[in-house]
Amino acid sequence: MLTFFTHSSYDEHKMHAGHPERPERTQSILSHLKETGQLAEFEQRKPGIVSEEALKRVHEPLYLKKLAASAPASGLVMVDPDTHLAPGSLPAARMAAGALEGAVDLVLSGKGTRVFSCARPPGHHAEHDAGMGFCFYNNVAVGAAAALAHKDIDRVAVLDFDVHHGNGTVDIFKDKPEVLVASSFQHPHYPHRYYDLKRPNIINTPLVAGTDGLGFRKAIERDWLPALEKFKPQLIFISAGFDAHTDDPLGDIHLKEEDFTWVTDLIVAAARQHCEGRIISTLEGGYNLNALARSVAAHLKALAS
Ligand SMILES: [Zn+2]
Repeated sequence: MLTFFTHSSYDEHKMHAGHPERPERTQSILSHLKETGQLAEFEQRKPGIVSEEALKRVHEPLYLKKLAASAPASGLVMVDPDTHLAPGSLPAARMAAGALEGAVDLVLSGKGTRVFSCARPPGHHAEHDAGMGFCFYNNVAVGAAAALAHKDIDRVAVLDFDVHHGNGTVDIFKDKPEVLVASSFQHPHYPHRYYDLKRPNIINTPLVAGTDGLGFRKAIERDWLPALEKFKPQLIFISAGFDAHTDDPLGDIHLKEEDFTWVTDLIVAAARQHCEGRIISTLEGGYNLNALARSVAAHLKALAS
């Protein structure tokens, strides 16, 4: 059974009015999953607050200290032009990262196989020493590093199909051959970092604006499948962003719900082949509320299979 992590603290991370990364994102997902009855099929859990130890595996201590010190009691504090701290932001971010730490414990203790964290703020743009692009802590990296701290785990993969490049995850793991990071992304597009980095453990899959589902599928089959076959991960993480959907306002890639089903099916097949089916997926982007809710529902249906 799929374990579904979410927490009401995510509603308290509110940036300025009109910001696309807003509480309605996770709320629309939850409403849709409740209305369709899909949520009742999952084991629902609340995450705990991430440990300092888990954050320090992937972020510079000075960055963590500065971020905590700059959290406001009221109003907003700018981290980068797109990214602001509100009073409720860091408590939410600590839960979003804590969900990944909890998911790793759950899966590696044999109490679960598939996990989805319905969380915000997202994480994949947060680098070792800097928050950016709506992200403060790199949630998926916290999970990958927590897994590697486990004595039985030597190789983990992070697969990222958000429309934006997972620069933060690449930054954190670029010199760690025990982590395979594969990211598909619109190019050229935000964040314009690390997209041409050459490392054996970094698989960059750029997609030109206008790429449709067929083009996406061909690129994933060409780049990700041989890399997974060679690397043989013991646990797979997904940076599950849904802003490559054709209706999304922040990208120009034309995926539909069935393409998210397809890529999730492909990852499930790889997980069955290499790592006893173990997958931990966490929400990244997706800014058209209806498309986001339907795409997450499609992802979860495939992930729970
Ligand atoms: Zn994105």
